[in-house]
Amino acid sequence: MDKKKLEAFKKRLETRQQELRRTVNRKGSFGECISCGKEINAKRLEAVPWTRHCIECQEKLEKGQLEEASR
Ligand SMILES: [Zn+2]
Repeated sequence: MDKKKLEAFKKRLETRQQELRRTVNRKGSFGECISCGKEINAKRLEAVPWTRHCIECQEKLEKGQLEEASR
């Protein structure tokens, strides 16, 4: 891989890393669904650590039955 591509990938990964760190630093809400407040399934968190919705709310969101919370 040439250096330019490598740098671009690095930048994207670093951005993602910062986002994740922010999510984790918000502690109180991490692992909790921002919509219903229920604990997000641990398996779901393993697969999608940056998720903010539990499976039920995510499905509703995708079907347009739920409005995305503003925070
Ligand atoms: Zn939920």
